[in-house]
Amino acid sequence: ASSLKRILVTGGCGFIGANFVRLQLENHPELAITNLDALTYAGNPDNLADLAGDPRYTFVHGDIADRPFVTKLIADGGFDAVVHFAAESHVDRSIHDATPFLRTNVIGTQNLLDAARAAKVPRFVHVSTDEVYGTLGPKDPAFTEETPLTPNSPYSASKAGSDLLVRAAFHTHGMDVVTTRCSNNYGPYQFPEKLIPLFITNALADVPVPVYGDGMQVRDWIHVVDHCRGVDAALRKGKAGEVYNFGGRSERYNMEVTKAVLKLTGKTEALIKYVTDRPGHDRRYAVDTAKSERELGWTPSVTFEKGLEDTVAWYKANSHWVDRVKSGAYRGHAG
Ligand code: NAD
Repeated sequence: ASSLKRILVTGGCGFIGANFVRLQLENHPELAITNLDALTYAGNPDNLADLAGDPRYTFVHGDIADRPFVTKLIADGGFDAVVHFAAESHVDRSIHDATPFLRTNVIGTQNLLDAARAAKVPRFVHVSTDEVYGTLGPKDPAFTEETPLTPNSPYSASKAGSDLLVRAAFHTHGMDVVTTRCSNNYGPYQFPEKLIPLFITNALADVPVPVYGDGMQVRDWIHVVDHCRGVDAALRKGKAGEVYNFGGRSERYNMEVTKAVLKLTGKTEALIKYVTDRPGHDRRYAVDTAKSERELGWTPSVTFEKGLEDTVAWYKANSHWVDRVKSGAYRGHAG
């Protein structure tokens, strides 16, 4: 997997995929990337608009749940790897309607696996989440790759389903697959329905920030660039059939994150609005990344404080991007 020339990225117009495509093209001059994206509400072509003239970049508009289409694209593509980011990714949306999550996350993943196997694509990287491990008590040890999968939301259950299908492709068909499980990402180009970009953009507009329940849920936060470095390491150095965790070594209470955002945007805590907690809300996530550090030589490079400061600066400098996203398909944060 070290001599990659052509890769297929799915979901490259989303938050993490767009950051990944940009970093791959920057760091690997020999690489050509095809980005397959359905452009759902979360897929924003503006995220990669600057690559329009780059001969190494090709955008394909399509749906991973469309099996004949995916089969043909991969059969004709001559890809050295598939890096699979495309997903329905927002827990609140999965609570309202799980159907698109099953279609994209489960069926779409199986379609890609089958197409990649038929075309003998040498490597398949499946990008998943620490949410498949469920929730932790305050004193529990962090999730390792051996932690049983006990997902609690329709989103995480659909991702766990996709992880198990990837596992099965390895055990049943001998496919060269690698799964990554990462904690909560933040950084540029994140759709403002997730906590950090929602709170930054609300605060900048003097709109209240909705804090779920008591705000004492704990999340581990990782800058998107560090996650993309991890996926790159898994793609190039990961061992077939293995799972690799990534996290930022930055466990924070949601309330701490909220206060930090308000401070960095120059607002007061008067903007905090408590709202009814999300049903089934996981209390704490924490990831043990020792295996990725040991086997992939990966470590997170951005501290939460610096990363958050840079992210607030990015949203301030890109109000045009925010306005376009919010005026378009954005339909608001539940609660
Ligand atoms: P996102 O919602 O910002 O982007 C998802 C992208 O997938 C969008 O561009 C969307 O148009 C595309 N897409 C959705 N359905 C599709 C379909 N049927 N066919 C083709 N494209 C489709 O998501 P994100 O936050 O960038 O997450 C990317 C991946 O990383 C997901 O698999 C997610 O589970 C995983 N992940 C996310 C986080 C996080 O904190 N955001 C953490 C760990 C893992």
